[in-house]
Amino acid sequence: MKTKDKGFNTKLIHAGEIEDHYGSATVPIYQTSTFKFKNAQHGADCFSGKSDGYIYTRIGNPTIRAFEKCVAELENGYDGIATSSGMGAITSVYMALLGAGQHIISSDAVYGPARGVLEQDFSRFNVEASFVNTSNPDEIISAIRPNTRVLYIETPANPTINITDIRECARIADQHKLLLVVDNTFCSPYLQKPLDLGADVVLHSITKFINGHADIVGGVIVTKEAEIYKKIRHCMVYMGCNMDPTQSYMVLRGLKTLGIRIERAQDNAMQIARFLESHPKVAWIKYPGLKTHPQHELAKLQMKGFGAMMSFGLTGGYEEGRKLMDNVNLAILAVSLGGVETLIQHPASMTHAGISKENKLAAGISDDLVRLSVGIEDAQDIIEDLEQALKTISNF
Ligand SMILES: *Cc1c(COP(=O)(O)O)cnc(C)c1O
Repeated sequence: MKTKDKGFNTKLIHAGEIEDHYGSATVPIYQTSTFKFKNAQHGADCFSGKSDGYIYTRIGNPTIRAFEKCVAELENGYDGIATSSGMGAITSVYMALLGAGQHIISSDAVYGPARGVLEQDFSRFNVEASFVNTSNPDEIISAIRPNTRVLYIETPANPTINITDIRECARIADQHKLLLVVDNTFCSPYLQKPLDLGADVVLHSITKFINGHADIVGGVIVTKEAEIYKKIRHCMVYMGCNMDPTQSYMVLRGLKTLGIRIERAQDNAMQIARFLESHPKVAWIKYPGLKTHPQHELAKLQMKGFGAMMSFGLTGGYEEGRKLMDNVNLAILAVSLGGVETLIQHPASMTHAGISKENKLAAGISDDLVRLSVGIEDAQDIIEDLEQALKTISNF
């Protein structure tokens, strides 16, 4: 079925669908590593690109293609590239778009390893990286060097929930001939479509909202144009960051409910944010849906809703935050996010432990920051859980 002119929720169910021999209603798992050629000429044609037949699953597979085409439509992009993990997507993009002697500017508060791999590994190949507060466009402009090639942003950023103006970044990138890459994990295409706002590449950890059920790890990249697409696909295939057919099947299944999951999770998140905001033991809270969020107006402009991610600090600081995490019963103390279950974690000692204390502080990742990923349970139950856990801690 052609879904190009259909609504987002219809695309979630039908985009990327394939017609197979048996008339399968869902996309089956083609759990095969290799594909039969009809004859030697067909094999040669598949390799030369004259035939679009499948060759080998690292290069392509029908289940994986169905997922790639689906996400490409959801993001209004040229085409998609599925990867083994979100980091597989990020490193494939870095590898394809950067070379020795070139420079990347990135948000200072990004997913920890997306920064760590530049600082610890790409630096060994003379790739230079600067980390700035991309919420302030002046900081981006001052960081641009003659060898800058890529502007990489995450919005809302992990875990500070800072928001970066995608349109403004696209304008800066255009003016200085940089490629704009956006990690859209915290929003999913349901809430934010970076390519429509001028980005060249959008990527996701599909482990989070896109799959939504905390049962697989994966990633995906969508580009605006064919040329960049080819470069990134080449790196993904040669580095072997490919997704597996079963992973693709699982995410195609999880993806179908993205719209209704996000609607419910962000509805819960708003109620929880209001509860935390008015609680005397909560010192501060950052949620894009609250007027107190410094970029609440920008969030309204570039996001369709405020999402399900928030961070907060307690008046008792880190020690009391630890007690809170030890005393919740319903919320699960675990990293990751974007699933149907509510998760709570402490970035400074967990997801962002690999970043130096100095860099963490500069990026706004304070020791007292607790990150909450709101699930689709009943809001009242999540609030009661937080309330009883907050009762166990002291107020300073
Ligand atoms: C989790 C995450 C990643 C990394 O994804 P993996 O699937 O764990 O490799 C990248 N970016 C963001 C914003 C994330 O939350």
